[in-house]
Amino acid sequence: MIQNKYKILLVEDEKNVRNIVATMLETEGYQTILANSCSSAKTLFTSYLPELVILDLGLPDMDGMNFLEFVRKDSLIPIIVLSARTNESDKIAALDGGANDYITKPFSSGELLARVRAALRNNRFSADEGRLPGGKFTLKNLEIDYDARQVFIKGEEIHLTQTEYNIVALLSENCGKMITYAAIIKATWGDYPTENNIKKLQVNMANIRKKFGDKPGEQNYIANELGVGYRLNT
Ligand code: CA
Repeated sequence: MIQNKYKILLVEDEKNVRNIVATMLETEGYQTILANSCSSAKTLFTSYLPELVILDLGLPDMDGMNFLEFVRKDSLIPIIVLSARTNESDKIAALDGGANDYITKPFSSGELLARVRAALRNNRFSADEGRLPGGKFTLKNLEIDYDARQVFIKGEEIHLTQTEYNIVALLSENCGKMITYAAIIKATWGDYPTENNIKKLQVNMANIRKKFGDKPGEQNYIANELGVGYRLNT
């Protein structure tokens, strides 16, 4: 078994779900800290300083979004929202509010654990461990040279337009994190997510994925959640 020392704060008021998720995590060697309300989550977060948070949104005392704002005021630790809310607008609000990822109930243990690993890796990327000296980013066969604005797969250069490169660079800087359409459009064109802009983004993404050789049904570099956003898979 993998032994690891990561502390995960699990905020969930439904006892069954809390127990199931806690068992999944502890089986993988994670330490769990359990909270059943927004206010207890705040207290436990401050005293234990966990490395990752799994957050339910429907809590008895306050909305989970309140806790998200509380943490994001001074911490960049990964937060995975685990919610029964399946609306695109709820997902977008959580992601734009600073959540790294969003999982809807019901979920599989395999999916949850994969997202936890990705979020913890993402946190290391942001601590610059995924980057080599000289401003390079590497992930599997993908290499990005930020100084030269060049992208390589298996050592072969992938020719991207300036816009495509900017999008890829943004996704890589947030590797493993789901980035909403609005956030990408704002960073790329400095504009709002109008219908036209979303279409423009989708066309660019389709071209990038084609150039990356992403194929439906395979382990691809870029994941798309329809209506929500894109993520560079770790
Ligand atoms: Ca709940």
